[in-house]
Amino acid sequence: MRLKGKVAVVSGAASGIGKEIATTYIREGANVVIADLNQAAADAAAKEMSGPTGKAIGVVMDVTDEQQVIDGMKKAAEAFGGIDILVSNAGIQTVEPLDQFKFADWKRLLAIHLDGAFLTTRSALQYMYKQGRGGSIIYMGSVHSKEASVLKAPYVTAKHGLIGLAKVVAKEGAKHKVRANVICPGFVRTPLVEKQIPEQARELGISEEDVIKKVMLKETVDGEFTTTQDVAEVALFFASFESNALTGQSLVVSHGWFMQ
Ligand code: NAD
Repeated sequence: MRLKGKVAVVSGAASGIGKEIATTYIREGANVVIADLNQAAADAAAKEMSGPTGKAIGVVMDVTDEQQVIDGMKKAAEAFGGIDILVSNAGIQTVEPLDQFKFADWKRLLAIHLDGAFLTTRSALQYMYKQGRGGSIIYMGSVHSKEASVLKAPYVTAKHGLIGLAKVVAKEGAKHKVRANVICPGFVRTPLVEKQIPEQARELGISEEDVIKKVMLKETVDGEFTTTQDVAEVALFFASFESNALTGQSLVVSHGWFMQ
């Protein structure tokens, strides 16, 4: 029970990595707010994971919408008595060569990953500073916070940007005992990746099997996908590490695809 009595907000937690993190936090005693685009999906995920060790509620929140973030974070703080952990996880992927990239698609991706991280962070900090009991902010980066790949210009740009944001939060938050860190997963088989396999096959003119073997997992040490559980355990580690000794860091969990 490493998070007993803590309150966590996880954006994009109705699916994939965020859902696994929320489930893991509840197992460890936290109460969790599932913040996602669709109220029904957030509520369904919350119902599924609530149990004897912790409760979840669903909150509708488009992380690019300033007012929805303010309202959603307020609901979260009122429901469980404050906010101790923010996992800024909501994200999308769009693959397109840079010379063809539509400006609207570029802006949409940056808004979800960067505006979303900023808006949720700003709200979380206001509660954390006022509460005076510290806090942990965790950004869902990627190996693409460190490396580039073809077809992913805005994603690589945004994921690099999150490392900069985390470092600023680490510096400004330190005197309030608020830490900020970034998790950088390799490929995880969530809906976000399932969607990309045929898209990349089409763009690169190769089979879907080759996208998996020769693009996604080529540089790993063992040809394996990272799992949602792998990422959730790192999210638990960052959330439960209570001192400023571990702040402003990024940790790659990718089967050795990228080595620091
Ligand atoms: P997913 O598609 O399973 O889940 C993403 C969730 O984010 C969905 O529930 C979706 O509704 C939500 N979302 C999208 N736009 C939103 C918005 N504007 N406001 C609120 N919620 C929104 O994807 P996933 O693979 O679990 O991705 C989660 C995070 O992990 C993303 O930031 C992604 O970039 C990152 N990531 C994923 C992988 C991977 O291989 N799957 C690897 C590294 C990093």
